[in-house]
Amino acid sequence: MSTKAEIVICGAGIAGVAAAYHLVVRHGVRNVVLVDERPPLSLTSAYGTEAYRNWWPDAPMFRFISRSIDLLEELAAESGNVARMNRRGYVFLTGDRRRIPGLEKEAEAVSGLGGGALRVHRDGESYVPSRPEGLQPEGLQPEGLRPEGLQPEGLQPDLTGADLVLDPETIARLFPFLTDDAVAMMHVRRCGWMDVPSLGRWMLGRIASRGGSIVRDRITNLDTTNNRITGVRLESGSVLETGKLVLAAGPLAREAGRMLDLDVPVFMELHGKIIVEDAAGILPPDAPMMIWTDPVDLVWDEAEKRRLSAGADTRYLTQPFPAGLHIRPRFRDGKQTFLGIWTYDVAPREAVFPLTFDPAYPVIVLRGLARMIPGMRVYFDTADALPVDGGYYCKTPDNRPLIGPLPVEGAYIAGALSGYGVMGSQAAGELVAAHLTGETLPDYAEAFSFDRFDGLSAGDMDGMRDATRGQL
Ligand SMILES: Cc1cc2nc3c(=O)[nH]c(=O)nc-3n(C[C@H](O)[C@H](O)[C@H](O)COP(=O)(O)OP(=O)(O)OC[C@H]3O[C@@H](n4cnc5c(N)ncnc54)[C@H](O)[C@@H]3O)c2cc1C
Repeated sequence: MSTKAEIVICGAGIAGVAAAYHLVVRHGVRNVVLVDERPPLSLTSAYGTEAYRNWWPDAPMFRFISRSIDLLEELAAESGNVARMNRRGYVFLTGDRRRIPGLEKEAEAVSGLGGGALRVHRDGESYVPSRPEGLQPEGLQPEGLRPEGLQPEGLQPDLTGADLVLDPETIARLFPFLTDDAVAMMHVRRCGWMDVPSLGRWMLGRIASRGGSIVRDRITNLDTTNNRITGVRLESGSVLETGKLVLAAGPLAREAGRMLDLDVPVFMELHGKIIVEDAAGILPPDAPMMIWTDPVDLVWDEAEKRRLSAGADTRYLTQPFPAGLHIRPRFRDGKQTFLGIWTYDVAPREAVFPLTFDPAYPVIVLRGLARMIPGMRVYFDTADALPVDGGYYCKTPDNRPLIGPLPVEGAYIAGALSGYGVMGSQAAGELVAAHLTGETLPDYAEAFSFDRFDGLSAGDMDGMRDATRGQL
């Protein structure tokens, strides 16, 4: 069977859905078809931390993500905050005074780009805590409680920049569940998280109501004539005749590119998270995202440590692990949980499904979390059995996305969204839609072009890789 489509989008993750939303709802393009072999958002997009931050010292990334947050806030206002977007902030913590100048320097850099003022507090007097959103815990807020068009409570649009609190007593008073040797915290304000499945459902509803459609199938081949897209072939045997295609294939970007004989310059990192039903109430449900910025020694008692250091395969568990461990509360499906996220292994790899995680992952994350939050010890006995999920970060060597035209006429990409695909989804959708419809492009467009790696060897690109760039 052969049908015609104005634009076909390969992939209904958050990137593909946002691209369709901007094309259909904001630009009024008719006959946009999203094709995915899986249910929407079910490969990577619903399995992350679902968080956002405007904290980017790289100028194009700062402008791109800030624009995306503006658009997410617009959606929150339009939808009655269907995705329960909050602005609790990210709290970066250290137990090492020598790290304070580094935190300050980074804050000044982001502040210089327009990220808001850095306020330094030597006591707790002028520090303003986050305002908890809504009247009820996340998820219990009845849908449609707020009339359309109102700014949802808790987004605190007046509060930006960051607060650097240098008084351990204030930190202990604000967050009594933390270790008592936290010496400084930087609370970055234009940050928070949302419920991605709800956001996706809302956008898909709007897309469908304006005539866009979604097809459950796998794209197996792309037809071209004279280096121009002419059609999309599906596993079912159907053909979609089209002159325009967006590849939004997430971690399958390389495979998708091969259908056009293109080598998409990306690699994968596997990122997991543990989900813990917080029956003991260790992390308050209204906590912000908490991030430990020092290397971490996992918490073991002396006998455990002796035993582990005696084994060649287990010794690594007694050595310091890299910084970046983070945690946030989540209320979903009637359950109060927390998510613990830590990517201590950033080795590049191919995308292989189904995902397999380090069997020691939950134990490592929980014993690391206990360094920051001593109460986590209550969960040590059950750590082995904790659920783990996650997905691949699809990254370019400079960890900026790929958004824009491909070397085949009519073909575009919206991908390589790394660890910022949720927060960047709206600006990514807006940007690829601007390319497709010939709108004026924003100043960051060039920094994300597909051809920016032209002429670089694989060795050059390996040399550009820096796992810490733009990553928590
Ligand atoms: C543990 C973890 C934590 C994260 N935390 C955050 C965070 O806090 N904030 C944030 O902004 N981001 C975060 N991310 C990153 C974010 O989740 C991703 O950047 C984002 O989901 C990527 O979306 P995508 O649409 O590009 O890819 P995906 O969601 O993977 O969607 C790609 C889709 O393309 C489809 N597809 C591919 N090829 C074909 C084909 N040939 N035919 C049909 N369909 C095809 C797939 O089936 C899939 O559904 C996190 C990710 C992980 C794993």
